[in-house]
Amino acid sequence: MQQLVFATNNAHKLEEVAAILRQAQDDSSIKLLSLNDINCYNDIAETGTTFRANASIKSHYIYNKYHVNCFGDDSGLEIDALNGEPGVYSARYAGVYGNHAANMAKVLQNMVDTTNRKARFRTVISLVWNGEEHFFEGTVEGTIRRELSGTAGFGYDPIFQPDGYDITFAEMTLAEKNAISHRAIAVEKLVGFLKGL
Ligand code: IMP
Repeated sequence: MQQLVFATNNAHKLEEVAAILRQAQDDSSIKLLSLNDINCYNDIAETGTTFRANASIKSHYIYNKYHVNCFGDDSGLEIDALNGEPGVYSARYAGVYGNHAANMAKVLQNMVDTTNRKARFRTVISLVWNGEEHFFEGTVEGTIRRELSGTAGFGYDPIFQPDGYDITFAEMTLAEKNAISHRAIAVEKLVGFLKGL
């Protein structure tokens, strides 16, 4: 059995990826490990200015230190009328890392007079497999609501309405969101690659 380390300590993300991997593999030939599983408790600094760079920083940090097959990811929200912001700064747009309420308030404030509400979530995965890097990307297009709606999910979910729906991500069940989300699309591409090995 091959082992693959996901450069995250976010248990929710790990389980999400593990579930997609389980579904895609009938023979369970790849075992997914978290950073905790390899006794890595470091916070890997996201110092890049693109999702690609940050995903790559995470995968290479682990690869260089532990010499194992691994991948890292980075995601965020890109709003057209804000020139792609908050982008790589999505988690700390209003200054404090992970303050989702403040981040959404800042977005809504910045868009008070904006009629172009187009936006997308993007995920980039950097996989280092046998020393070679491969990228996988997923996006979901949508619009930014004028007010928060819904309580499920996390981050910008209450203000993001995916195209083709009249509800926000925060009004969907996790299964509904995972069927169309940026992260799920990127992970499915990763899994497709691993299946084809
Ligand atoms: P991460 O790189 O996946 O940890 O995402 C960074 C930040 O982007 C999060 O803290 C959220 O603010 C935002 N974000 C990423 N994915 C989502 C999502 O599915 N819903 C809402 N916000 C998200």
